[in-house]
Amino acid sequence: MAYEKIEQLFINGARRPGSAGETRDVIHPATGKSVATFCEATSDDTIAAITAARTAFDNGHWRSFSAEQRSKILERVADILTRDKDLFAEAESRDTAKRIVEAHYDMDDIISVFRHFAKEVLKPHVREVNTGRENVHSKIVVEPVGVVGMITPWNYPLLQASWKIAPAIAAGCTFVIKPSELTPSTTSMLMEVLSEAGIPDGVANAVYGAGATAGEPLSTHPDVDMVSFTGGLTTGKHVMASAAQTVKKVALELGGKNPNIIFADADMDAAIDNALTAVFLHSGQVCSAGARLLVERSVHDNVVDEIARRADNIVLGSSHDDKAQTGALISAGHRDKVEAYVAAGIAEGAVLRAGGIRPTEPELADGFFFRPTVLDNCNTTMSCVQDESFGPVLTVEVFDTEEEAVRLGNDTIFGLAGAVWTTDDDKAARVAAALRHGTIWINDYHPYVAQAEWGGFKQSGVGRELGEAGFAEYLEHKHIWHNLKPAPSEWFPEGPE
Ligand code: NAD
Repeated sequence: MAYEKIEQLFINGARRPGSAGETRDVIHPATGKSVATFCEATSDDTIAAITAARTAFDNGHWRSFSAEQRSKILERVADILTRDKDLFAEAESRDTAKRIVEAHYDMDDIISVFRHFAKEVLKPHVREVNTGRENVHSKIVVEPVGVVGMITPWNYPLLQASWKIAPAIAAGCTFVIKPSELTPSTTSMLMEVLSEAGIPDGVANAVYGAGATAGEPLSTHPDVDMVSFTGGLTTGKHVMASAAQTVKKVALELGGKNPNIIFADADMDAAIDNALTAVFLHSGQVCSAGARLLVERSVHDNVVDEIARRADNIVLGSSHDDKAQTGALISAGHRDKVEAYVAAGIAEGAVLRAGGIRPTEPELADGFFFRPTVLDNCNTTMSCVQDESFGPVLTVEVFDTEEEAVRLGNDTIFGLAGAVWTTDDDKAARVAAALRHGTIWINDYHPYVAQAEWGGFKQSGVGRELGEAGFAEYLEHKHIWHNLKPAPSEWFPEGPE
């Protein structure tokens, strides 16, 4: 398929430029050069998209599609994405500078997400209620929430979009999505796939541009029933507060400050190797990155020496460089923030053990690269331990006991993910139970599957994506009470004449 005009907004099944005629360049992070120019939506454009989604929901055609029909559409989307995987991976890697091999892994995950919700929608969703009364038939049915506003970030652009779009389609919702202004390409391409798969006009709409203009109506407009947001904590709080004005359903996937706990009895080769992947995968631009290493005191020196040595050997490069092990940060502004975060950590007493600088290779000079960084001697009073860097920065803390490891692991406003490394299964189970985070890995880091729920405790978010709960987010439950033998209730019987 030729993906044409993808730089234009997608509203009611048609491409159109933004009404103000403005555009925005997409900058390739590895070179700092423009690689695409997208139309910028005004808030009026977003309201037009919301109106299209509202009409498509209310006119009944899309709602007449059965669960089986919606399931078939999702399977078709997965098939088309499989067919066009290379095109999508190229576009994703061009916008984000992630290595092409990682963009291909993302595509496999995305395809599995569509297939998961194609199955999920076929499960029975009607529940008979035993009311204890004769002559009453009572049941719970599910219905789509309605029009969903979706707002997504730049680190896994199409993956984050698919976590919202696939269950929304499965449920029978209509939607307007605004991807990050930094990485709009693959979300826009997906609109063509949805049309090819048989989604009626108006069900899926996409607008591009700044959060404060193109994004804002998705949390404020009364015609939006639910807003599903993935991004940073500050924006998430703003979206939640805006949505409160019209009491929308809100789903939030926010940041994390995720503890990776290594006990002295762990398989050290595996623990150290995975500690590097935990934090430096995609240059740390992963919400579940294991950015806080908690290590038992007796093995601290060996563990940190080895992690620092290997961090210094990580090869940075562009997305098509076969030797590269990770890529650039998303923007110059984001790299500035990461640098400021490292400087604050050092000012607070952290000891720099690796990185902390931009790479010196001339071929990387125009990109937004930053060396994998290890900060030792950290503690929970430091901003570098409490704040999310969203970059390739590992902070190291020591602990002496299991209780202390748990206490430190929970000493954060976030609660997205964490891991524990030990050969003692009972200890692993105790620690996993005590950590207040939405995903806990035991002797592993990062794997996730579409069949398992994803989401955060505490300020890491509200609600869940994926799994069964990730489908339920897009459903309303309706109770239907059918009195089979109607009779006067005689609550207010007629009084005496
Ligand atoms: P961000 O909050 O800056 O932006 C996210 C999205 O919100 C973008 O599309 C942006 O344009 C939009 N936005 C900004 N202001 C808005 C407004 N007023 N109204 C509506 N939309 C608005 O986040 P980011 O920098 O793109 O992404 C990084 C953050 O995302 C990190 O904190 C990371 O932890 C988080 N994240 C979380 C998960 C998860 O599953 N929990 C996954 C990926 C990323």
